[in-house]
Amino acid sequence: MHLAVFGGTFDPPHNGHLALCLYARELLEIDRIIISVSNNPFKHNRGAADEHRKRMAECLSSEINLTGSCCQVSGWELEKRQPSYTVDLLNYVHQLYPHDSVTLLVGEDSYREFNMWKEYEKLFSLCDIVVFRRSSAEGSASPSAASSENGSIAVIDFGYEVSSTEIRELAAAGQSISRLVPPAVHRYIIEHGLYR
Ligand code: ATP
Repeated sequence: MHLAVFGGTFDPPHNGHLALCLYARELLEIDRIIISVSNNPFKHNRGAADEHRKRMAECLSSEINLTGSCCQVSGWELEKRQPSYTVDLLNYVHQLYPHDSVTLLVGEDSYREFNMWKEYEKLFSLCDIVVFRRSSAEGSASPSAASSENGSIAVIDFGYEVSSTEIRELAAAGQSISRLVPPAVHRYIIEHGLYR
């Protein structure tokens, strides 16, 4: 089985996350995507509580699964209640699925911080990496930015410019976010009065 790990703060999940997962499933031939909701050590001042972010990630997952079951949400990083690191998550996934190949799905902005990640060199022995380019990111995320003896790095020109930051700002300003988030996530945000 070809597994993908897609981590993020998902505050909230949006149509960029949705499109990225569908791209991975359809074009990278991923069988299962593990959406991992993280305590990102580089991100502060999150808008929604952990439980809400996890539930919204489950909304995202159920929207994707409507068109072919492939996603599951993991709260493993949240449950650790301490900063979470991709290398720890990938070790955990390898313990769960020792015989499967793993691809890490990551946006360009996250990849730029790559050499600040804990034990990032080890990632190459644990997974292949696919970087999704974001048009707003400055410069370029070159695949040669990190070399690999084991895993490969591919960069995809994605260019779907939507971010959770933009959505939080729009919602706080009382503007509609319905075209930027999957319907189930939108319903959840309204029902729980998030980001106002
Ligand atoms: P924020 O605006 O709060 O920083 P975000 O929109 O980047 O949030 P995250 O939950 O941090 O959302 O994203 C999870 C992963 O998805 C990260 O690797 C991020 O780079 C990637 N990602 C998010 N939005 C996009 C997008 N529009 N195109 C490509 N990758 C994306």
